[in-house]
Amino acid sequence: MALIVQKYGGTSVGTTERIKAVARRVARWKAEGHQIVVVVSAMSGETNRLIGLAKEIQSEPDERELDVIASTGEQVTIGLLAMALKAAGIPARSYTGAQVTVHTDSAFTKARIERIDEHRMRADLDTGKVVVVAGFQGIDADGNITTLGRGGSDTSAVALAAALKADECQIYTDVDGVYTTDPRVVPEARRLQTVTFEEMLEMASLGSKVLQIRSVEFAGKYKVKLRVLSSFEDKEGEGTLITFEEGDNMEQAVISGIAFNRDEAKITVMGVPDRPGIAYQILGPVGDANIDIDMIIQNASVDGMTDFSFTVHRNEYQKAMDLLNAQVKGHIQARAIVGDSKVCKVSIVGVGMRTHAGIASKMFRTLAEEGINIQMISTSEIKIAVVIDEKYMELAVRALHKVFDLDQPSN
Ligand code: ADP
Ligand code: ASP
Ligand code: MG
Repeated sequence: MALIVQKYGGTSVGTTERIKAVARRVARWKAEGHQIVVVVSAMSGETNRLIGLAKEIQSEPDERELDVIASTGEQVTIGLLAMALKAAGIPARSYTGAQVTVHTDSAFTKARIERIDEHRMRADLDTGKVVVVAGFQGIDADGNITTLGRGGSDTSAVALAAALKADECQIYTDVDGVYTTDPRVVPEARRLQTVTFEEMLEMASLGSKVLQIRSVEFAGKYKVKLRVLSSFEDKEGEGTLITFEEGDNMEQAVISGIAFNRDEAKITVMGVPDRPGIAYQILGPVGDANIDIDMIIQNASVDGMTDFSFTVHRNEYQKAMDLLNAQVKGHIQARAIVGDSKVCKVSIVGVGMRTHAGIASKMFRTLAEEGINIQMISTSEIKIAVVIDEKYMELAVRALHKVFDLDQPSN
């Protein structure tokens, strides 16, 4: 007998029919003698709808109240799934995050899980019940409802699996595993049998939304056995296992996957004096306004003057531009502040890069052959990321997928 945490995402619970299908799958695992905790997302589209309602009242919604609203989507799904399970003769109980209890900090809309009480769930499991928990939500020390950021149900599931010391955490979604890249963009993408934890972490942080990055961080920290599977197949296959050992896969390719992110925007502060403290004077106010900065480039200086570029999330682009124009431009006597909100980031990821030379030049040559200009580059031991014009994103992803031999062999 194993203790398994299963998570079903929005499309997997998108209709009452789909919820009944989830109940049947849970029943099958239960019949095999396992203890099951199920974490569910809101029905697909529901979180967007709820946030849309909030924005009809306040264009910049009050974040505490936004969490009160956004968290209700998951509450509907837990009730429906618990009912479906009971209707199928499976004893079940639903819990919101606050009931479990999932304790978080107070950073509304992007709260972090601090601690989970697992006693209640344990008691239910011991009496043979399936425990159904609302993903994406928790409660802070003052009793406020919090949410964990978009895609946060993945993190709820992995955190529950860690707290319960579950044997496995299964993420059921609308694809049957982690692919070499988003199969919706590149139909030739291949499912990976395994992907290392480090690669998954990079892929998630570089834009592959199949797993929320924090869920991967949790899995790494608590060594949770994490697997991505399809809820749309009658009998789930083996999906993709996130492994902690490199070299598990004898045929480890140099590049495991290609990630992309359309949500980037680039800002350049032109003609700034090249002197100590200038990066701090530009980025300090941006950081203080809670705007996350991604890539940064400072050019070589000419006659003591330089240009300074960085990228932010596209949602925060206008806020960052306004702030720089109001607080920074005059202060440091920059010549101009220019921005481009139509850029994207394309990255190649693979632990094989550590032992292979020439990967960067192959990537850059491929983009050059497609006539794609690279605006910024950043690298780590296992990834190379470039910022390019967003209109070339799909072209770049396809070309790189092919040149690094990731395309499915055609038959
Ligand atoms: P859920 O609602 O189940 O949480 P998501 O939409 O958050 O599902 O994540 C699944 C989606 O992630 C897939 O439908 C796919 O389009 C996208 N995706 C992006 N990159 C990848 C990848 N490398 N492998 C698989 N899916 C990916
Ligand atoms: N329902 C939330 C969202 O849409 C959380 C999740 O689905 O993981 O972001
Ligand atoms: Mg998701």
